[in-house]
Amino acid sequence: MSIKANLSSIKNSFYNPACLLIAVSKTQSSSAILEAYGAGIRDFGENKVQELTAKQAELPADIRWHFIGHLQTNKVKYIAPFVHLIHGVDSWKLLLEIDKQAEKSGRVVSCLLQIHIAQEETKFGLDREELLAILQNPELQHLKNVRIIGLMGMASFTEYIHQIRTEFRFLKNLFDECKSLQLPENVQLSELSMGMSGDYLIAQEEGSTMVRIGTAIFGERNYTKQ
Ligand SMILES: *Cc1c(COP(=O)(O)O)cnc(C)c1O
Repeated sequence: MSIKANLSSIKNSFYNPACLLIAVSKTQSSSAILEAYGAGIRDFGENKVQELTAKQAELPADIRWHFIGHLQTNKVKYIAPFVHLIHGVDSWKLLLEIDKQAEKSGRVVSCLLQIHIAQEETKFGLDREELLAILQNPELQHLKNVRIIGLMGMASFTEYIHQIRTEFRFLKNLFDECKSLQLPENVQLSELSMGMSGDYLIAQEEGSTMVRIGTAIFGERNYTKQ
């Protein structure tokens, strides 16, 4: 199937049609990205800073670039001038650096706090206490160049649907709990980024507002081509 056909069958399968589809284009060529762009997609996700900046420089300027990988503090400066949303913020230190670099670019950069919901130790993210510590840090209100707009999480890589659903439900409950807190003005919790090719329908049933889908759009990634 073509990229265009994949996109339309994914869109048609959505449990929540209002959910934002982010096309995860890591390792994909510019021509593949342009094919998705031609089918109307404007939100693309990348997980490597160097790859993202190279693609941003040569692809259409109205693309909204989402950074979905693990972001190192020393690389924030390369994406702060243009990034639309950083999904994987997992420390106070990283948030401070994003604020600093966003200020240099005269921007306010939207961020999601990444929560560790999977069983695998390898996945990044904050636990509930660490999340609450960031949201309740009295210094947070002074970060004028970041806006925290929600949470992001990745479920376990497993065949057990019930396990995946339980993890997404945990994240949604945490999201609702955070929304009920007294929060500073630069925290406006409206987005829940959860769901990938294998689990986006479960994620939508559990309240996802944005799904990050790669393989189901572009096919298997070929890392050796890089
Ligand atoms: C690669 C990646 C995706 C997309 O995964 P697929 O299974 O190809 O849809 C989603 N989110 C993150 C954080 C990723 O790194």
